[in-house]
Amino acid sequence: MKAVLFETFQEAPKVRTVADPTPEAHGVVLKVEATGVCRSDWHGWMGHDSDIELPHIPGHELAGVVEAVGKDVKNWNVGDRVTVPFICGCGACRECHAGHQQVCLHQEQPGFTHWGSFAEYVPIHQADLNVVALPESMDFATAASLGCRFATSFRAVIDQGKVSAGQWLVVHGCGGVGLSAVMIATAAGANVIGVDLDPAKLALAKDLGAVAVIDGSGDVVEAIKDITKGGAHVSLDALGHPITMTNSILCLRPRGKHIQVGLMLGEHAAPTVPMPKIVGQEIELLGSHGMQAHRYGAMLDMVESGKLDPARLVGDKISLDAAPEALMNMDKFQSIGATVITSF
Ligand SMILES: [Zn+2]
Ligand SMILES: [Zn+2]
Repeated sequence: MKAVLFETFQEAPKVRTVADPTPEAHGVVLKVEATGVCRSDWHGWMGHDSDIELPHIPGHELAGVVEAVGKDVKNWNVGDRVTVPFICGCGACRECHAGHQQVCLHQEQPGFTHWGSFAEYVPIHQADLNVVALPESMDFATAASLGCRFATSFRAVIDQGKVSAGQWLVVHGCGGVGLSAVMIATAAGANVIGVDLDPAKLALAKDLGAVAVIDGSGDVVEAIKDITKGGAHVSLDALGHPITMTNSILCLRPRGKHIQVGLMLGEHAAPTVPMPKIVGQEIELLGSHGMQAHRYGAMLDMVESGKLDPARLVGDKISLDAAPEALMNMDKFQSIGATVITSF
């Protein structure tokens, strides 16, 4: 099969021909129809992820068609249109048994723990646990865009944030994750405030339902306290930076919730946290890490009913041949829509 492969971290990946994958007994092989290009792929290529063994094929935001089925798989047949969460559970650990596959103790991540979806075919482990059927009405590019940023935002806002109608929710950083969170929190009835440095992203945040937007270069915390009359109930750092993280914690009202969604790696792995406020005001700090397959139904129902429209967040559609360039440039700019590879 054709695939984007790198043999050394930080050296240009190349489009190569490699052996086709075969399914494990409990797994499937998917023919990839669409796969998103994500900042996490860039972190992997930079060498920030200790799971990656070289040579490596990146790609974890995928949708496609079942091409081959392992002998122990019960739920899936060749030809099924499907997607997967970027974190796949093992099915046998205590977290999987409790339904928390997103923090599985032996998790598999296509494009990290094994070869990913910047390729014509990708193997998926434990298919009965991890594979999700797509609604007929959903195209592959939109489905691929759900798997990482959108699903992560859904879990952050709905399952971790437990935001309710009328609450103030702030999204710091209106890239792909942040704009997804604006859309999802608005659909849940929250009053959403978007913060970013880029006026174009703020304009889109307003379009997607934000009741107010704030230029991130000013005094963000004061501006939020003003608008919310004392601070937000829930706040997300959707970017993953010490400044957005700190603003997100400081803009909360007493007993508010900060949710860290953006990854903090490399030089930002151990940020300074304003602990006096967390103790004195009983602030909750929560992480959010992907979303397990069994929660996709709630998200897909909101898409099918028209409350959520993830297709609005799909950006450029590119070919596999253009993927190395797109991957290497992921740190240079955050484009508004997700870049998706749709021809192979
Ligand atoms: Zn991703
Ligand atoms: Zn597990």
